[in-house]
Amino acid sequence: MDERAKDKVNMKKIIIKAPAKINLSLDVTGKRQDGYHEVEMIMQSIELCDTVYLTKTRGGIDVSADCLDVPLGNDNIAYKAAKAMQDVFCVGDGVDIYIKKSIPMAAGLAGGSADAAAVIWGLNRIWDIDANRDELMKVAVSIGADVPFCIMGGTALAQGIGERLTPLSVDLNCHVVIVKPPISVSTGKVYSSLDLIKTCKRPNTTAIIDFLKAGDIEGIGGYMENVLEDVTETIYGGIYDIKREINRFKPLGVLMSGSGPSVYGLFNTREEAYRAYLTLKETYGDIYITRTCPCGVCII
Ligand code: ATP
Repeated sequence: MDERAKDKVNMKKIIIKAPAKINLSLDVTGKRQDGYHEVEMIMQSIELCDTVYLTKTRGGIDVSADCLDVPLGNDNIAYKAAKAMQDVFCVGDGVDIYIKKSIPMAAGLAGGSADAAAVIWGLNRIWDIDANRDELMKVAVSIGADVPFCIMGGTALAQGIGERLTPLSVDLNCHVVIVKPPISVSTGKVYSSLDLIKTCKRPNTTAIIDFLKAGDIEGIGGYMENVLEDVTETIYGGIYDIKREINRFKPLGVLMSGSGPSVYGLFNTREEAYRAYLTLKETYGDIYITRTCPCGVCII
């Protein structure tokens, strides 16, 4: 048996790193007939990640996790991803999925989407599906708008409902401090409360892309905006207080990620980030220090 064939027979288990994302910008450009919003956002993977363990079984899909808050069974987006892979590619095998959760939940950091991306990408291997990237991306978007980006990772412009991705070949190499206030945000409620006509604080997406391509990290800070920030602040409060606190440490930029409530500061050096992290930790219990990451899901 040649090495590649041997690899396939042995590949019953796989461990995948599933990175979270932050939004360097988030703009909503319109609303579609089907209710989805058209977005234009710059997405960035970060090292903060879940770890997803996949074990091939004879049938069925089982999901477990190290955290009681994670929904199990078919309420878990990882389950939905596995079921879609089974259905689309007519697979008879099953899988045990174990999720080691490090990405805070319902935080605007695409934790669930990252797990789903890991499942799609990993099952393509352990179930020997051999689907190409486009086929996997189709399954990914059927599960959630952020899932295709979580497969691809790095830095990218996302358009459409978030699934139309243009990779931006840059390595941002920044340090990130994330504060998650103790609020549960409903993404649906935030989007449905957005009044595009009244929205005046919009990101200059083109300027951010130009700065990124020129490697001018200092330049992007002044243009980072998220049109959902005002909405989440109005409904839930607390976002601007955190922005103000992070701003005391002179980050390159500070922004709410996704529909929130996580707010992050972007720093040039680990020292600057760590100084902010240590001080903010005294006030905010749910705080993370991480860095930008150039890739999406990958085998550990
Ligand atoms: P996004 O940024 O893509 O909007 P998010 O970071 O705001 O996502 P998630 O962490 O994905 O939010 O969780 C949203 C909800 O999805 C949770 O409250 C939880 O009930 C449910 N959920 C289902 N599967 C998962 C999973 N594998 N991990 C986390 N949450 C999950």
